[in-house]
Order: sequence, then C-alpha cells, then structure tokens
Amino acid sequence: AWQQAAENLEKVLSERDFATWIKPVNYSHHDGNTVYLSVPTSFFKDWLEENYQKVILGALTVTSGHNLSLSFVVRDHNSESETLLAEDLIIKGHQEEAEQAKSAQLDSTVTPLNSKYTFDLFVSGTGNHFAHAAAMAVANNPADTYNPLFIYGGVGLGKSHLLNAIGHTIRSTSPSLNVCYCSAEKFMYEMVNHLRLKKMDIFRNLFRNVDVLLIDDIQFISGKTGTQEEFFHTFNALHEAHKQIVITSDKFPREISDLEERLRSRFEWGLIADIQPPDLETKIAILKKKSEVTKIRLPEDVTYFLASSDTRNIRELEGMLIRLGAYSSLQNIPITLEMAKESLKDILGDRRKEITIELIQKAVADQFAIKIADLKSEKRQKNLVQARQIAIWLCRDMTKASYPDIGSKFGGKDHSTVIYATKKIDKALHDDQKFFKLVDDIRQGILK
Ligand code: ADP
Repeated sequence: AWQQAAENLEKVLSERDFATWIKPVNYSHHDGNTVYLSVPTSFFKDWLEENYQKVILGALTVTSGHNLSLSFVVRDHNSESETLLAEDLIIKGHQEEAEQAKSAQLDSTVTPLNSKYTFDLFVSGTGNHFAHAAAMAVANNPADTYNPLFIYGGVGLGKSHLLNAIGHTIRSTSPSLNVCYCSAEKFMYEMVNHLRLKKMDIFRNLFRNVDVLLIDDIQFISGKTGTQEEFFHTFNALHEAHKQIVITSDKFPREISDLEERLRSRFEWGLIADIQPPDLETKIAILKKKSEVTKIRLPEDVTYFLASSDTRNIRELEGMLIRLGAYSSLQNIPITLEMAKESLKDILGDRRKEITIELIQKAVADQFAIKIADLKSEKRQKNLVQARQIAIWLCRDMTKASYPDIGSKFGGKDHSTVIYATKKIDKALHDDQKFFKLVDDIRQGILK
C-alpha cells in the first residue's frame, strides 16, 4: 500500500517536495492498524510529522481503504547521534574529538531557493503587512535599509516564504551578488562537517564571502555554543563588510533561550518585524492564491469553510487544500462542501480530541518552569497565579471541557474562579501583544 500511496503522492506534490520528503521514506512494518514508515533522521521525522503527516495518512487511507494511523521510525540513529556528539564536543572545546566524531560527506552548502516562495505568490494581509514591507525594502535595496532584518513569528506563517522571496528578487535584479540561503541547522551541520575534515578555512570563506546571507530558523542554535560562536564571527564579518543579513526565528530575540547576549543584541541592531496569524480575509486570499497555483479548484463555500476552521497556521491550511486536491483527483470527484467536511473530519476533529487538560498543564508548567502541583494549588504568588490563569484559559480554548470539569482538574476550584481566569486572560490577550505572543507560543507548542 505504501508503494501505491507514494505514487499517488507523486501526482499531487511538487517534484521537489516529493523527491526531498517522500522518496527517502521506506515502509518499515505494520502493527494492527498502525503503519510504520522509516525515515533517515529525527529531523526528517519531525519535519514529516509537522508538514506531511496528514497528506501521507490521507494517501494511505485512500489506497488501503482502511482507517490507519501512522508512525515514523528513524532508521539511521548512528550518524545523527554522532553529529550531536560533535556539537557537544565543540561546546566543550574538544575540537580534535569533534573532528573524529562524525563521518558524513560534505554536501553543498548553499540550499537552493524554493521556486514557489516568491513575492508574487505572497499575500500581504493583516498580520504580515509589516514584515512583507520590510522584506520588500531589503530585497530592493540590500544592505541599504535594515541590517540585519530579523523576521519572527509562529510556525507556518510565512517566514521562510519571505526569506526566499528576498533571495529571488536580489538574484534577479543583481545577478552578480552572491546570495546564500541556509537554515541555521544546516549552518551547524556544515560547520561540524568542515571541522571534522579540518576544512574550517573553506567553511569561513564560504560564509564570509557572501553578499546576502539569509538564515532561516535561527532559534535552532539555542544552547549550541560552538555554532553560536561561529555564527557570531560570520555575522560580524558580513556586517562590517556592509553585506545584507536577514534572519528568521520563531521567537523574538529576547525569548530565544540559551542565546549569547552578544548575538541577541546584534539581532536587534537592525529592524525586527513580526508576523502574526492571519485573519479570515487574509486566509481566504491565501487559499485563493494557492488554489490558482496548485490548480486545485475550490468553490467559494469550501474556501470559506477552510479559512474559518480553527487553524491559524498557513501551512496547515495548505495541507488541507492539498488533501482535498488529492481526494478529489484520486476518487475522481469534484470538491464540494460536503466532501470537504467528510474528508477533513479527522483533522479538524482529531485535534480537539487529542488535547487534554493534563497536556496543557504540562506545557504551561514547562514554559514557566514550575510544578504541575503549583498550578493546582491555592498559592498566590504572582507568577503562579498568571501561569494558572493561562493554563485555565488554554483548557477552555483548546478542549471541550466545561468550567466545572476544568475547576476540578485544577485542585477543585469552583467554576467562578475558572470564569474569572478566562476573562482576565481574554482581556490581557486583547490589550497586550507580547502577552498574546507568549500564550500563542504555548498554544502552538501544544498543537505540535
Ligand atoms: P514559516 O517559515 O513561518 O514556518 P513558511 O514560510 O514555510 O512558514 O510558510 C508555510 C506555508 O504557508 C508556505 O507554503 C507558504 O507559501 C505559505 N504562506 C505563508 N504565508 C503566506 C502568505 N502570506 N501568502 C501566501 N502563502 C503563504
């Protein structure tokens, strides 16, 4: 069934996405209704879980005719733990050992830009106006406007898209400029590889001689001292030479944990632009654009149905579109509202089902570094009260639990306490953008 499902996925995904993300996946085994697919690394696993789980499951369900569940297993644990070991050794200053720790091939340092992520295909709307404008300004005048430009926002909201779009524009208007697009993760892997092969001079030459450096997902270097050190020098060399740097992150610089102060402050030197979740109209406009590009024809009512579902992440929205396209072409039926409701039932329904009060309590306790017991206690310290109220609000927002249900899971609070907490947080979310961001980050973390 996997073979067949993969063939079907090949029809609906772009050639590149298919080659990158589906081809390396192998069938491993199955157990009851759970299909296990093997993938090369745990990074790969995370990526598939975040981006392709639903599409793959959709394809498997259609080809097998059964309701299945899906699990990914990492097939090549060794090479990965060696890389991590290498980073660990660099942190500890044991360069020699780090060099021996990994035995992978160097691959090409510069990642190609994603051809679909252009300004033409980016919908500017509430939530991303400012980041979009800043990205355009930088693309049109590299190194003469904001340097660095730091774009941050939750997952799937268009940061990579803007970063690639900057790259495309500069490459087409100034073909002589050397534009380098690279994720922070890749930066680290390349560094470790070059270090191992005693080729750090090549690595430094590569990164310190670019004209435009586009670094995606910088939060990845959190806690990775060796990588931070190297990135710090790369940043300085480029900035001093008046080269454009653009960085994306899922967090505001101050909120990235375990990040050296000197890097944090550099990230704040230029312009910081945030991307907030899109509103309904923007989601509709994005769906329309995506349906043009993918040629998946969406009737108005279905567009509205998808846009008004509780997803606030554009990648998820796109996932639903692709899934509908897949269903429609595989079963040879047109997309209708009824069909959309039916085929997305599990995605839209599942999420509510899976999220439990316990899960939320754990996420909030972790976020604030407090004990779950403190959330359930009567303690009145300010930070505990706030964490408790946020947890209660999230339970109300993300589960179907009633006020009394929630109260009882928070050490038997009465329902007026629960109502008070939700109102208080509602208001704070409304008044304070930073607070909104904090709560939304926890929420996104729970949804992952
Ligand atoms: P992030 O880097 O913030 O996690 P991406 O840039 O990968 O998110 O965006 C996720 C998906 O959503 C991509 O396919 C991207 O094309 C799409 N997307 C996000 N924002 C927009 C937008 N404003 N207009 C069109 N597509 C968008």
